[in-house]
Amino acid sequence: MQKRALMVGLGIAGMSAAIGLRQSGWTPVIVERAPGRRLGGYGVGLMPEGRQAAVDLGIADHLHTRNPPDGGKTWSLTRSGDREPGMGFLHQPGDPAAVLRGDVEAALWEGTCGDGAGGDPVEVRFATTPVEIDDTGGDVQVLLTDAGTGSQYREGFDLVVGADGMRSSVRRMVFGPDEDYLTNWDAMICAFQLKEQVPSYAETDSIVVARAKRAVWVFGFDDCAPTTLLTYRTQDIQGQFTGSRVEQLRSVFSGMDDPVVRHVLDSLEQAPEFLFDSVHQVRMPRWSNGRVVVLGDAAWCPNLFSGMGATFGLLGGAELGRALRENPDDLDVALTAWESGLRPSIRKHQRIARVKQQMFVPSSRPVEALRATILRRLLAARERRLATARAGAAA
Ligand SMILES: Cc1cc2nc3c(=O)[nH]c(=O)nc-3n(C[C@H](O)[C@H](O)[C@H](O)COP(=O)(O)OP(=O)(O)OC[C@H]3O[C@@H](n4cnc5c(N)ncnc54)[C@H](O)[C@@H]3O)c2cc1C
Repeated sequence: MQKRALMVGLGIAGMSAAIGLRQSGWTPVIVERAPGRRLGGYGVGLMPEGRQAAVDLGIADHLHTRNPPDGGKTWSLTRSGDREPGMGFLHQPGDPAAVLRGDVEAALWEGTCGDGAGGDPVEVRFATTPVEIDDTGGDVQVLLTDAGTGSQYREGFDLVVGADGMRSSVRRMVFGPDEDYLTNWDAMICAFQLKEQVPSYAETDSIVVARAKRAVWVFGFDDCAPTTLLTYRTQDIQGQFTGSRVEQLRSVFSGMDDPVVRHVLDSLEQAPEFLFDSVHQVRMPRWSNGRVVVLGDAAWCPNLFSGMGATFGLLGGAELGRALRENPDDLDVALTAWESGLRPSIRKHQRIARVKQQMFVPSSRPVEALRATILRRLLAARERRLATARAGAAA
């Protein structure tokens, strides 16, 4: 008989795991707290490991990418208001694929439930959450609540996969409270899609205004409006969640009287939706306990500064499927192999995220100046490399 797995969460990690498990002969069922699928979202750069995982999951052909031609231009704004060529997110080694989070989820949805699914469509239950998880040894009994009908029912699974994000309820129920696993980064973010590009910039331009403790980024795409990220450092995380978000952000960014910052803040007031949240990293000593496993942001959220969460969500799901395929009769061995394969790379990127945070939002004036100097040198070195390559091609 086919083994059944419950995935909690219809994000990148949950759908990747569902496809990975189905490829290994399991029957996945996904429950999602929201009443329907979410679309759009903020800009994401997919690294080569994530793109390879998309190939392994059979969804690469459905993935719509939006890299501007020739990588687009990135502008850095100096304190005196001048524009100078800058280094953007897409200039990172590995040539990230520029997508919206919704593009990755749409491709996964196609592979999970759409015509492009390489197997039976996966059953998805919206407005449904687990409220009790009991690993009996033989199976996992899960009490599920359906918010649509108000009903509760118990169901048995061979495996439960918690892919329910940074504040995972599966992790809380099976591994312990958030405080044991969430590390606070004393930083906030607000991300959303702009209705239109900042006036006087080209559609595909990216713009960086990085000052000590606060920064505004605009990410240009080939065929949709730019997305933006406001980020700032604060030690009063609780205080950021009281009152109006817009007022809060206006007050934090007051004094940065620049047309780019003004445009972004004005757009925020019109935005149909935006993400406003504190920044954390999730560190767990073990990602599985018996027949319950967590993955994606629930298990290892490296946070947005790492630029690796979506990549690792795809990879984690694909690799979980592979580990179960290679160890079909021993769940413990499969989960141990899966974790030891992924952990070193994830840990490395969790560490690097601290440095990348300084690139996103410097912690002080001296770091701001140092950052600008380093990026100018990197950009000059890149220009030299490109010029040499062009000369080589022309010869
Ligand atoms: C601004 C920003 C920029 C980013 N940029 C990048 C980037 O450039 N590159 C990159 O690789 N990553 C990036 N990331 C990170 C990446 O987006 C995340 O790591 C990734 O989307 C996490 O996917 P997930 O499936 O683990 O979790 P989530 O996306 O959080 O999905 C969890 C799902 O579970 C559902 N859920 C929650 N609780 C329950 C429950 N109790 N029951 C049922 N369902 C539940 C939620 O509704 C949601 O659908 C960025 C993140 C942000 C915020």
